[in-house]
Amino acid sequence: MRLRIEEVEARIAAACRKAGRERDSVLLLAVTKVFPASAIVEAYSFGLRDFGENYVQEFETKAPLVRSLDGARFHLIGHLQSNKSRRAAELFDTVQTVDSEKLARRLNECGRPMDVMIEVKLSEEASKHGCEPGQIGALISAMRPFEYLRLRGLMTMPPWSDDPETARPYFRRLRALAEEHGLRELSMGMSGDLEVAIEEGSTIVRVGTALFGSRRVE
Ligand SMILES: *Cc1c(COP(=O)(O)O)cnc(C)c1O
Repeated sequence: MRLRIEEVEARIAAACRKAGRERDSVLLLAVTKVFPASAIVEAYSFGLRDFGENYVQEFETKAPLVRSLDGARFHLIGHLQSNKSRRAAELFDTVQTVDSEKLARRLNECGRPMDVMIEVKLSEEASKHGCEPGQIGALISAMRPFEYLRLRGLMTMPPWSDDPETARPYFRRLRALAEEHGLRELSMGMSGDLEVAIEEGSTIVRVGTALFGSRRVE
């Protein structure tokens, strides 16, 4: 795993140099879905501190094994049903996938200060969740009274493609939307397209496969 982390670090550093950005302007979020808690512990031992999980239920089983990792932060990056919001608020430091007022309200009602991001739906794929771009302003306004939620920025997931350039217009669009709404953080870019994402202003790249290998069961 050390080698893979070094490779990903080198890719991020090279992309930052190319884009004229500081390395520390981009957070490497290690996506550990499907992998056991031991993968989190090992990645932590090599210096990673931010981890992304897709499912509340899956992380529930890992959380007791990683809770003692000092300074580790856990981000929910998968769709969250509002009936699981209480559990999510207990388990995660950040929910990157807020996409409705109802969900935001439920999270706020948990009374735990937390960072949140709005997931934006930029592609027409039916399987994709997220707030419509035209609804972001209304959602931000609705969230303003929610005193426990600190809105950090926007997150998106472009349609899958093996050509990283396919994602560029989606990344560019997310950045423009964040600027329009005065938000700083941009969670965009994965194993296959993190360079393009960094060129387009990403501040959080979510990397699974390039760190932990294929999730597919052979
Ligand atoms: C799985 C996942 C990732 C990581 O994808 P890789 O291609 O394995 O790097 C990033 N973001 C989300 C939302 C994911 O579900």
